[in-house]
Amino acid sequence: MTYSAVTKLIARNLLLLAAATASATAGGAPAAPASDGRPTAPIPTEPPMPAATMAEFAAAIPACDVTRAHCYRVRIHLGTQDGAPYVSPAWLASQFEFANQMFAPIDVSFELHSATTIDAPAVIDGRKARDAIAKGIKATDAVDIFVVGALADLDDAAFPLFGVHWRRTKQTSRRFVILSSYAWGRTMAHELGHFFGLPHSTYAISIMNKTPRLEPPLAQRRFADEEVPILTATRNKIEKRRELRNYRVPAAMPNGAVPRQ
Ligand SMILES: [Zn+2]
Repeated sequence: MTYSAVTKLIARNLLLLAAATASATAGGAPAAPASDGRPTAPIPTEPPMPAATMAEFAAAIPACDVTRAHCYRVRIHLGTQDGAPYVSPAWLASQFEFANQMFAPIDVSFELHSATTIDAPAVIDGRKARDAIAKGIKATDAVDIFVVGALADLDDAAFPLFGVHWRRTKQTSRRFVILSSYAWGRTMAHELGHFFGLPHSTYAISIMNKTPRLEPPLAQRRFADEEVPILTATRNKIEKRRELRNYRVPAAMPNGAVPRQ
């Protein structure tokens, strides 16, 4: 075996180990991750969570907040290990809860369209694997989010990522989010920030800033004021091109027409 093959094998085993132990973080974050993009602390080893039925996932996620003018649906595609999803309904619910808090400034709320299991490799470790995960899953009017065992950095296969917003290589209009099972509770909101047009930023307050920092405290972080107009403009474009449907609007009305008081 060549040196690079050995390195690759070690990297893969590390990721598999991460996937195997990750379900650990059900409902909470891994030990003190310092940035929004990459876990920096070792992944804790805890017993795998019990299997949950799809109905339990559906029951855990509330419908869109009725006070928000824009309601989008999310299709969750769950990778499994020994037949059980890597994550629990509580884990997923905390991702929705945080995303809904973060998107309040642009009057957006997210609800679950469906949660189903998929056949996916334990480790999503390259462009091909990222592209392939959505194979055969046609775009609808909802956001597609895949939750997998482990997700590797494209530039450094041994480095686990919390999540990614991904465009298919040969069909860039088709995009979706992949979350790893060890993602912390803020990852879905961060990746949806990308979905709604934001790059990474350097605003200290922003959940799009990946630089580890102590200030401001995590509880105060959100989208920066400067990022809100970009989110709003992208939201309007997404509705106009019907990539997502605003479920607050009755089906008979033109897409994107927000009801007035
Ligand atoms: Zn990012």
